[in-house]
Amino acid sequence: MKRVIRWLLNHVPRRWLQRIAGWAVPIAGVWYVGRGRECVVCGARRRRFMPYGYVHLREDALCPSCLSLERHRMIWLWMGRSTKLFEKLPTVLHIAPEVSLMRHLRRLYGDTPRYITADLESPLADMHFDVESIPLADESVDVIICNHLLEHVRDDRRAMRELWRVLRHGGWGIVLVPEDRSREHTFEDDSIIEPSERTRLFGQYDHRRVYGRDYDERLCEAGFAVERIAVAASLTPEERTLYAIGSDDLVVVRKL
Ligand SMILES: [Zn+2]
Repeated sequence: MKRVIRWLLNHVPRRWLQRIAGWAVPIAGVWYVGRGRECVVCGARRRRFMPYGYVHLREDALCPSCLSLERHRMIWLWMGRSTKLFEKLPTVLHIAPEVSLMRHLRRLYGDTPRYITADLESPLADMHFDVESIPLADESVDVIICNHLLEHVRDDRRAMRELWRVLRHGGWGIVLVPEDRSREHTFEDDSIIEPSERTRLFGQYDHRRVYGRDYDERLCEAGFAVERIAVAASLTPEERTLYAIGSDDLVVVRKL
């Protein structure tokens, strides 16, 4: 199972993976019948979550029911407990939308036009644009969800400024990237385009950089106030096991 997952992730284009994962993963999930884990996004109970990862497989990661990963469950849990998003339904711009979150947000928002999904090429998104040039008016959205995208973007600082521009004052966003907190500085080199070299140096074949501890500074330079929230630390040990949300910080940006 692990080898199959790793091979698929590294050899099948992402847009095709998105199409087939919706029915293929739940079939594979038959092997995970049980009640030791609970997905906070879809409510499914399973024995464990499935392994997932491009280079190093993480155990207990992927929900076989809705395809949520640790970070998606962390986001959902935090949004449900610490924001009014689920009740107030503010205007959300969800860039590079994760299938698990998108499906549930679409259901929540129903026919209202206030949930906007966008991607460079995903057939599942409402809008298609490059995040370095967002075709939306200044201050037109209340909330931005944009995860694991900036490491793929050519000019991430420009993309951050665009995110700041379209967010209204008082708005907030979740902007996660893969981080190597042992690095002081972000490492990037545009001359490295060979996929195997990018995997070796940046952690994935289509990444352009690996962020260090200066990630927050880049967000601040774009205008954001940055808050790091240790969501897992706020849970009981039983909840941490049950929900398997990982131990990464949630990075919340605000436009004050
Ligand atoms: Zn789920």
